[in-house]
Amino acid sequence: MSNLTGKTALVTGASRGIGRSVAQRLAADGALVAVHYGTNESAAKETVAAIHAAGGTAFTVRAELGVDGDVDTLFTGLEAGLDERPLDILVNNAAIIDYSATIDNATVDAYDRMFAINVRAPLFITQRALPMMPEGGRIINVSSGVTWFATPEVVYAMTKGALNVLGRSLAQSLGARGITVNTVSPGITETDMNDWLRDSPEAAERVAGMIALGRHGQPADVGDAVAFFASDDARWITGQTLEVNGGLLLG
Ligand code: NDP
Repeated sequence: MSNLTGKTALVTGASRGIGRSVAQRLAADGALVAVHYGTNESAAKETVAAIHAAGGTAFTVRAELGVDGDVDTLFTGLEAGLDERPLDILVNNAAIIDYSATIDNATVDAYDRMFAINVRAPLFITQRALPMMPEGGRIINVSSGVTWFATPEVVYAMTKGALNVLGRSLAQSLGARGITVNTVSPGITETDMNDWLRDSPEAAERVAGMIALGRHGQPADVGDAVAFFASDDARWITGQTLEVNGGLLLG
């Protein structure tokens, strides 16, 4: 659990849910972690406090993504926290889902907002991070199983499809620099994004029936997979998408 000692990591959307788990796991493995958040400062501080309590190091970085100047704001805070250190690991995790954006009800505003947060931000965060990344750097994008199973939330699914494409192309472009790019694709995971899982035992039971391992996912189930791609053990893996879903819809 100490293979990332001396490394640094930025995890977007690390105040809650899957991002928090990723941040905690990378910190447990020894990395100094920048815990990014958009608005929920108290949750971000809780993530950092949990990391400190476990003996790790972390700091918060606030930047609302999807608005003008978002990347500048993020990197001002990141660079201050890193204090001249390089960035070894970038985890593009922050995203939103607008459940109303179905084919019948999607609006241009909803489309633009989801693409700005879920696609535009990871692309330009990555672009800005690259000069700070040394050989051996790691980029991990958090996508979704909705890239391969159909869902009514068509716009959200499209954003995640774009992220999968980004990962593959970036892996090819960055291979010469020794930087790997991989995609973790969670299944149905209990977070605020899926609060219906907590609120409805019946829905949770239905979901469990669709999963080979017989339960829905927890954030740490995904965080541990992200940590694998961040580790030296994954040095020979790039351009891949890993489905992390307990065996969702296997048949
Ligand atoms: P949550 O809704 O629990 O957390 C979202 C995180 O992203 C928060 O830290 C939030 O910050 C941040 N965030 C959201 N919008 C913005 C914004 N505009 N600017 C800055 N930060 C923002 O999400 P999950 O943990 O469920 O999801 C994490 C990732 O996993 C996402 O990419 C999601 O698409 C993906 N995923 C999730 C699944 C699930 O079942 N939960 C399934 C498949 C994929 P703040 O706290 O400040 O609001």
